[in-house]
Amino acid sequence: MSEPSPEVYEEGRGMDAHNQVMRSIRAEKEAEYDPREPTRVWIDEDNTPNGVRESLTIVLNTGGCRWARAGGCTMCGYVAESVEGGEVSHDALMAQVDSVLEHEEANADGLCDLVKIYTSGSFLDEREVSAESRRAIADTFADRERIVVESLPDFVDRETLADFTDRGLDTDVAIGLETTSDRIRRDCVNKYFAFSDFEEACAEARAADEAAGTDDSDPDVGVKAYLLMKPPFLSEQEAIDDMISSVYDCAETEGCHTVSMNPCNVQRYTMVDELYFQGGYRPPWLWSVADVLESTADADAIVISDPVGHGSDRGPHNCKECDDRVQRAIKDFDLRQDPSVFDQIECECEATWEAVCEREAGYNLPLVQ
Ligand code: SF4
Ligand SMILES: [Zn+2]
Repeated sequence: MSEPSPEVYEEGRGMDAHNQVMRSIRAEKEAEYDPREPTRVWIDEDNTPNGVRESLTIVLNTGGCRWARAGGCTMCGYVAESVEGGEVSHDALMAQVDSVLEHEEANADGLCDLVKIYTSGSFLDEREVSAESRRAIADTFADRERIVVESLPDFVDRETLADFTDRGLDTDVAIGLETTSDRIRRDCVNKYFAFSDFEEACAEARAADEAAGTDDSDPDVGVKAYLLMKPPFLSEQEAIDDMISSVYDCAETEGCHTVSMNPCNVQRYTMVDELYFQGGYRPPWLWSVADVLESTADADAIVISDPVGHGSDRGPHNCKECDDRVQRAIKDFDLRQDPSVFDQIECECEATWEAVCEREAGYNLPLVQ
């Protein structure tokens, strides 16, 4: 891609323009949600540094992300799910946790070793989840092995993380880095922080890890980076190249032990949705996801991907015939980290995907829907 000139970043253009568009799209939102119910909760299996574990994933309903209220990321529709008024009380948050525990009791084989908490924002931002609520939630899950909490890098600091390690929990911070390219993060995703902020957050996690003790029995602290495959305005091949370099950059950052690559899907009330509606965006091919996982199998980190909405027009997809097979191979790779899982899958549409990678460019997106 060409280098930007300074005038592109004048007011009303660049990031300001992205935010203006995103604010007007989000204003179309009408739904309101009950602050005493979590947005979503489900049971699954996850690959962790200690092996595969049964996991309880929680999307807490909080006031939502402040960046989303300013406009926010081009692909993120989560603000459409947050609570009207922007604040959820301690009591309401704890009622959400009670409802999560009931779901777990009804659906899991006992207590899940791994608990993952997302908030459609930052769990570590005290304007979203107060220190009182954070500590009460840490108490609730103190009998588990590992906790993952989502946060923007700004809110990651060693003292906050001690709330979890003091209770004996291995702790990971999930950071929506999206890409290690500052240019793509700013211009395609419209996310404001820099890769250096992510590196600083990893350094804080390392400091928290050391403070928690260095014996094998002491809690570990690390970072799980979330990458976004194919934000708008990138061709299929540019998206693949961006992910390959991002996976390696993350794996080389000390403190970051896992990389989770999310293929972009088309969510309501987003700029991606507008582009998609006008025929200007196609989610990534599942072949691209497989290609990145296979190409980076030697990276020094756990690299996984969990394509959401696979096989649908709004989610990552191939030709529809092979989507389930490729998705299964990806899930298999997530658990085993063995690139040979991709040797067995074939489909005629692979030739179309190869042609797209070769011929699609910024001015003809998307070449094939
Ligand atoms: S992706 Fe994260 S930072 Fe961006 S708008 Fe959504 S919740 Fe906020
Ligand atoms: Zn196919």
